[in-house]
Amino acid sequence: MENCIFCRIGSGAQPCLKVCEDEKTIAFMDIAGDADGHVLVIPKKHCENILDCDRETLNAVIGMVKRVSDHLVSRCGYDGADILSANGEAAGQTVGHFHIHIIPRRHGDGLGGKGEWPHFTGAKQELETVYESIRMI
Ligand code: 5GP
Ligand code: ZN
Repeated sequence: MENCIFCRIGSGAQPCLKVCEDEKTIAFMDIAGDADGHVLVIPKKHCENILDCDRETLNAVIGMVKRVSDHLVSRCGYDGADILSANGEAAGQTVGHFHIHIIPRRHGDGLGGKGEWPHFTGAKQELETVYESIRMI
């Protein structure tokens, strides 16, 4: 879809800080600046959200979420990851192309403790610096 920003990122028409890519998906840095290492995973194929996403595409997206999350923990010194997705305007979705947020977490990182969703307190590091430390390609 021409007017969809994430379709443009998926096709390469719009630049992004690409963390990982395969045939069906791409993982890239979120530009929000709300948390260090905030990554988005999208399907290259347009779907609005999980509600209209076909099973094959969904499998590819969740596979990439796992691949990036594994990498963050096994290779980048993180202890875990919050994995979040808003589906539908009522749920707070702002970009109408399915995406899953990955927020890498460390013990004592100040983003929230047990039983809490992360508090987005603002990135502490430059986006490019974190990107260079977590990129997989
Ligand atoms: P939502 O609010 O739909 O759950 O998440 C949309 C996310 O997309 C936000 O975190 C926002 O920062 C991110 N975003 C919006 N436009 C762009 C863009 O052009 N490039 C990148 N890398 N992220 C974007
Ligand atoms: Zn799209």
